[in-house]
Amino acid sequence: MGKKHVEVWEKCLTVIRDNVPYQSYKTWFEPIVPVSLDENILTLQVPSQFFYEWLEEHYITLLKKTIKKELGKEGRLEYSVIIDSSYNDAKPLSVHYPTSDRKATKNKSVSMPIDLNRGKSRDIPNPFIIPGLKKIKVDSQLVDTYSFDNFVEGDCNRLARSAGWAIAENPGKTAFNPLLIYSQVGLGKTHLAHAIGLQVKSNDPDKIVLYVKANEFINQYIDSVRNNNQNDFIHFYQMIDVLILDDIQFLAGKEKSQDVFFHVFNHLHQNNKQIVLTSDKPPVELKGMEPRLLSRFKWGLAADLQVPDLETRISILKKKLYKDGIEMPDEVVEYLAFSITTNIREMEGALISILAQATLNKKAITLELAKQMIDKFVKSTTREISIDYIQKVVCDYFSMPIDLINSKTRKREIVQARQLAMFFAKKHTKSSLATIGLHCGNKDHATVLHACRTVNNLLETDKQFRVYVEDIDKKLKL
Ligand code: ADP
Ligand code: MG
Repeated sequence: MGKKHVEVWEKCLTVIRDNVPYQSYKTWFEPIVPVSLDENILTLQVPSQFFYEWLEEHYITLLKKTIKKELGKEGRLEYSVIIDSSYNDAKPLSVHYPTSDRKATKNKSVSMPIDLNRGKSRDIPNPFIIPGLKKIKVDSQLVDTYSFDNFVEGDCNRLARSAGWAIAENPGKTAFNPLLIYSQVGLGKTHLAHAIGLQVKSNDPDKIVLYVKANEFINQYIDSVRNNNQNDFIHFYQMIDVLILDDIQFLAGKEKSQDVFFHVFNHLHQNNKQIVLTSDKPPVELKGMEPRLLSRFKWGLAADLQVPDLETRISILKKKLYKDGIEMPDEVVEYLAFSITTNIREMEGALISILAQATLNKKAITLELAKQMIDKFVKSTTREISIDYIQKVVCDYFSMPIDLINSKTRKREIVQARQLAMFFAKKHTKSSLATIGLHCGNKDHATVLHACRTVNNLLETDKQFRVYVEDIDKKLKL
């Protein structure tokens, strides 16, 4: 049989790559491993059941087409899911499972290490318990504004958001247990984690939800050791229905805390309680974490949050302004979103300073004011002109809607604007020719190269054109 399946899948991938956005390709197709080709059945291994369902829902037509193209009319596709049957509600799948990849099955009849007696827990001296109430009430520590309603959906967060929504609707009962949300700072992990908790509470106020930062968890544990009430500490955590532990990277190197969390985790998981974790890195990169704990993290779903695209950044700002009842000219909002690209928290910070500046000095919020503020903001974090921004400046210069650049039109003015955008992107960004092409109308690197040559030629021969280029260049550097 040889490596035929690898070859076939490679060919499929070249087709798929051209038909889905880059980010989706990376998320949904790169992790797929071809396993075998039997007659005309290609078997693909996918990381989880959720993954398989997502492919079926969103990409099945594309997959079918490509497979048929490679294997002929009889071509068929089967999935094998790396599955760890440590969750109880796994629906049987109409796909076949590889035996070799199956990890040890969790023994469902394990008895609980600690018998939970809620009546007793009332006396637990825990900072989160509101005293004086008959029924145990845990203050969830959730922030109301971090709701799903206020969380803008985009390609950058679609997987994490939908998984989050799914578990909020059905805590502890889906395959995503634990759900691990990871990303760099300022991209919405904490917000999403709260949103899940809030949604659970709104569906069922009796559910005990607790949001806690990992370093708080560690400190509480240390206190409990000091006060000699570790059992109470553990008991408390074991009665939670939905435990949200934020920034678990802080557990790294803290063996004792990891150990106690391991016990809490096992107890909750065995009792179908939901666990939500966030981290600033993917599980594989979490150093200083006990392997047995890391392997638990991999039981569910690890979903990342990416840097949001321009459109999403604009929606986030607009939503925030709307929520706060503030009006701001669109061009200011867009300028903000164009200029700050990698951290939503920073973008919101800039928004707040513009508002403050305008209010304090009783100035109108204008583009001019925004530029002054943002320059202060962004210069310190080394501003790089983005391809998006270049397109915006070029299109504004020719009073042309920005989406035309990415359209298939071959109209002269538009082709020229597109070529200029490519030329400036080459000049001012570190992006590769391929990336520039991808963002300017989905062209290949040769087209970008050609554009740069054309612009350079025109610069030498056409005076008017040279004026355009110089003007735009000035605007870009403003
Ligand atoms: P992290 O925990 O990843 O560092 P946060 O959850 O604290 O990031 O998010 C930073 C800020 O960005 C918060 O004010 C949050 O409300 C906002 N934010 C992040 N993602 C979104 C989104 N998709 N929609 C709306 N606001 C968002
Ligand atoms: Mg956070």
